Amino acid sequence: MKICTVVGARPQFVKAATVSLALKNTDCNVQEVLIHTGQHYDSNMSDVFFADLSISQPDYNLAIGGGSHGQNTGRMIEKIEELLLIEKPDSLLVYGDTDSTLAGAIAASKLHIPVSHVEAGLRSYNMAMPEEINRILTDNVSSRLFCPTAGAIENLRREGFYNRDVLISEVGDVMLDAAIQFKNAAVKPEELDVKGDFILATFHRAENTDDVGRLESIVAAINYLHASIAPVVVPLHPRTASALKRNNLSLNCHLIKPVGYIQMVWLLSNCALVLTDSGGVQKEAFFFNKSCVTMRDETEWTELVELGVNKLSGADRERIIEFAQYMFAKNIPDIGEMYGAGMASQRIASALV
Ligand code: UDP
Repeated sequence: MKICTVVGARPQFVKAATVSLALKNTDCNVQEVLIHTGQHYDSNMSDVFFADLSISQPDYNLAIGGGSHGQNTGRMIEKIEELLLIEKPDSLLVYGDTDSTLAGAIAASKLHIPVSHVEAGLRSYNMAMPEEINRILTDNVSSRLFCPTAGAIENLRREGFYNRDVLISEVGDVMLDAAIQFKNAAVKPEELDVKGDFILATFHRAENTDDVGRLESIVAAINYLHASIAPVVVPLHPRTASALKRNNLSLNCHLIKPVGYIQMVWLLSNCALVLTDSGGVQKEAFFFNKSCVTMRDETEWTELVELGVNKLSGADRERIIEFAQYMFAKNIPDIGEMYGAGMASQRIASALV
């Protein structure tokens, strides 16, 4: 059987790595055709992940990045449609909630190629987020919905998906599979010179980078934490770097370039607290037994908040500082059977074949 997979952004490389491997390990002869849209194109946002995670080179690279959401999505749909007409796959596989996810799902569904969505059913219930629009639309044209959590299943139930002719399954989270697979491969980032307990901070969500008030407040909180609580290490996302420059703001902490996955695993394994607005990094904190403060007003991963291992601070300076102090070096329970216990990719591969 032939599966076309569409990826384009950093978190999708991590997710696709373990599912591709699981597809190779099935008894069935699966041909996976990998389409990289080029949404993330810097070598430290793309190439390094293919190397670190031993992902096969893409069969096609569309080199579509750098435009607005509409420009990117439209150009991706056009190109992916052309490729699907050439490749004629039995199904199309997409991950998460980016413009690449949506473009793949629209192109395939209009050609009546079944779409499988990994990370289906997640909701923030904040329609100002481009990711929320992408994930809702993608779920609605998919015929196989692979959910990471019971909460995601419940969201789909509420939205009436169980009255439709679609396959819905709770498989767990493929990012846990990656964390388990690569936890012993951790490598310290070369440029990092930090001693003792440190805070790992990542932020890049448009709601934080494109709103000057929120950006200023986050920068002030990080600068305070670095000066008064513990060193803060920030692998700086290109979108955040541009926003800081545009607004004349400086982070006074350990700023490093975005790191590859195995260096990120080192940072996650060795830090005393994670401060983030990333969807993936919130969970990875828990996978590596670290507490987390999430600089957003809501999260799709509500179970971590309920468990007390993640606190939502929004972008409020005082709250970020207060929660970071409270959560610093806190003991975090083991993951147990949550998020599929490392079996998500295998379950997806078995369902697909
Ligand atoms: N990540 C990485 N290097 C970095 C920052 C993040 O390898 O400098 C990884 C992170 O560990 C996770 C993925 O990239 O596996 C998450 O991507 P991101 O935060 O960009 O996206 P989101 O999860 O918010 O969609």
